[in-house]
Amino acid sequence: MNSAEMNKVAERIAHKASALALQQQRFLADLIRIRSYTGDERAAVERTLQELRTIGCDEVWMDSAGNALGRIGNGRRVILYNAHLDTNEVADASEWPHPPLEPVIENGAMWGLGASDCKGGVATIVYGAAILKELALSGDFTLLVMGATLEEDAEGFALRSLVERDGVHPDTVVLAEATDLTLRRGQRGRCEIRVRTTGKAVHASTPHLGENAILKMMPVIAELEAMNAELPTHAIFGKGTQVVSLIEGPHTPNSVPSWCEATVDRRMMPGETMASVLASIRAAIEPLGATATIPDQPVSTHTGLRLDGPSFYPGWLLEQTHPLLAVGQATGRALWGESLPVDVWRFSTDGAYSAGAAGIPTLGFGPQEERYVHAADDQVDLAKLTKAAAFYALFPLMFVNREGDQ
Ligand SMILES: [Zn+2]
Repeated sequence: MNSAEMNKVAERIAHKASALALQQQRFLADLIRIRSYTGDERAAVERTLQELRTIGCDEVWMDSAGNALGRIGNGRRVILYNAHLDTNEVADASEWPHPPLEPVIENGAMWGLGASDCKGGVATIVYGAAILKELALSGDFTLLVMGATLEEDAEGFALRSLVERDGVHPDTVVLAEATDLTLRRGQRGRCEIRVRTTGKAVHASTPHLGENAILKMMPVIAELEAMNAELPTHAIFGKGTQVVSLIEGPHTPNSVPSWCEATVDRRMMPGETMASVLASIRAAIEPLGATATIPDQPVSTHTGLRLDGPSFYPGWLLEQTHPLLAVGQATGRALWGESLPVDVWRFSTDGAYSAGAAGIPTLGFGPQEERYVHAADDQVDLAKLTKAAAFYALFPLMFVNREGDQ
């Protein structure tokens, strides 16, 4: 297709997106009504599978980790759309202007828990696929639509399971997390480190006979904090950070504590690995008699699978010149006649696995706005929801078309 033909297709897609807007909003409202905290997403997965059937996917299934999947086409290039169905938990429903699980349309936006993170994204990718089906548009691609689980607690774990356990190997991944209709090409990474000191327990009435693990931890904490001055920096992401976020010991108020464990939250630059992070921390704290490990994140799927794995979520960055970014730009230009701004995310996403661990080129685009994520005024703009579905309909055509150009 030349660019004039592509613009014509873009116009038909934009039209169809508007025609399907109410249906898309109804689906989103249904998702918001279903409580789907991490590990407990079954009802939301089933509702998504039902919608994937309704829009006419060629195949619809739930994978072993309980993700909802739909397939369109059987072409050579495999494009995976990902948005997660689990939501952040509501801390205090009385702070919400509307009850979190009762979707309301107000000021041109749909309000409700998960609207911006990430059920608006799920409705977007499902309706991108719906538009392709309705217009009978196809190409040399296989499009997989994934309503993902487990993202809030263990981003990337459900996607890892799809790839490594179920053997689905996408050539590219597009994440419908909040970008406000702009493009995202990376994120900082994060990981958890447990730092431990050990002492000798004795009765608290004779502390001189013991060794106090909490006192031993004091210089270790100071050292961990001081490390912030020398953490890796990056031209785009700025500076890495680490913070002591938890501290624990034995719950025995009348004993000298025999152990103390501090948890460190570290934000990483692309390229940092488990080995490099541990090496830097160990160099700082081992001389003080402390040890460091990266703990396993306990993860259970709603299908009863254990997916425990290291609490390590690598950062990633797609090069400015990567063709995938050009496809995203061309898709935006064909639909709206302008170049989309490109940025990186401040938060972590399923891209920690796809791009950070598996090296699959990954791009972000979504209608949701970052300011509403995990907020009591959680909402997604309805006009943006429609526009984003059009983007997801055109993207696969642009993807294979541009490859044909090369
Ligand atoms: Zn999210």
